[in-house]
Amino acid sequence: MTGLSPTIEAVDAAAYRFPTPQPEADGTLTWDATVAVTATIRAGGQCGLGWTYSSEVTANVITAHLAPCLEGRDAFDIAGGWTAMHRAGRNLGTRGLYMHALSAVDIAWWDLKARLLGKPLSDLLGRCRDAVPVYGSGGFTNLTDRQLADQVEAWSAAGCTAMKIKIGEGWGTSARRDLARTRRLRGLAGPGIDLMVDANGGYRRAQAQRVGHDLDELGVTWFEEPVSSDDVEALAAVRDEVRCDVAAGEYVYDQFDVNRLLPVVDCLQLDATRCGGYTGWLRGASSAQARNLKVSAHCAPALHVSVAAAVPNTRHIEWFVDHARLEPQLVADAPEVRAGEARVNRTAPGHGMTVNPAADARRVR
Ligand SMILES: [Mg+2]
Repeated sequence: MTGLSPTIEAVDAAAYRFPTPQPEADGTLTWDATVAVTATIRAGGQCGLGWTYSSEVTANVITAHLAPCLEGRDAFDIAGGWTAMHRAGRNLGTRGLYMHALSAVDIAWWDLKARLLGKPLSDLLGRCRDAVPVYGSGGFTNLTDRQLADQVEAWSAAGCTAMKIKIGEGWGTSARRDLARTRRLRGLAGPGIDLMVDANGGYRRAQAQRVGHDLDELGVTWFEEPVSSDDVEALAAVRDEVRCDVAAGEYVYDQFDVNRLLPVVDCLQLDATRCGGYTGWLRGASSAQARNLKVSAHCAPALHVSVAAAVPNTRHIEWFVDHARLEPQLVADAPEVRAGEARVNRTAPGHGMTVNPAADARRVR
């Protein structure tokens, strides 16, 4: 103990691999599994849990490079520990896998702190709403019409009023099919549903502008990563051309990335499992608020509910099919979606989730 605070005793990591039912694809990548890397932190008889979606080698980053920064540290000093972890990564590169690892640890640490205080995490972060809107997300480019219809039906049944599919198929080589699938989404979702599309950076500037005009005609309200998010100039050029909102931010790793994107998006996406955990998410949301912009939580819906409920400028949480399927397998007591919203945990200490013993069958590290 240092004063009244417990000290951190142990930091551990594990990795779990969840195969997808079939190979899945967006505009620029295909995959057949999702790997969740967990971080756990022990202090004062409590255990905090965080995770990220990454490569299993991220678990090694946690144990080899981050754990030594934490062990023996005051269990309430998240900000100091965050800075120590970030500084320790200077020669490794602080973005990418390193920040995935740091994010998982930061999330575990906030969970631990709330458990040590005996409070729900939403109380500790400062809750300004009891439920957060979610939007249905999936619509992979390789789905059959029937499979897309099934996804849309599930989102409708859960009360989602906004739905997102992937476009940009084959690095932008199938724009006609992208538009046809968007038209099909409108038919399946019905009127009154916000249509959203995500090109995952599959187009280049001029093509994204042309596709954007067509999306406007289809009533699409959200055009995500029309071009690579590294091409900030092109993002700005597309945004100048279209009526729909241009969104990006899933590869934001720090405040400098936030600063680069804020001038060129209509809504900033932030992923707590990549942008530095809840600490990074709160900082990013605050920067967005300073420009009068909203933020949207990217993926990992179970982990975002408490933090998304803590900032007034949250727009929604992405209820991504892969993660919505996986999270109840990985953890017990993942939040459920009803009437288009995920309800905030108001009773259990921390975020309220613990690793599901059955997940052991999926453990790869
Ligand atoms: Mg995306």
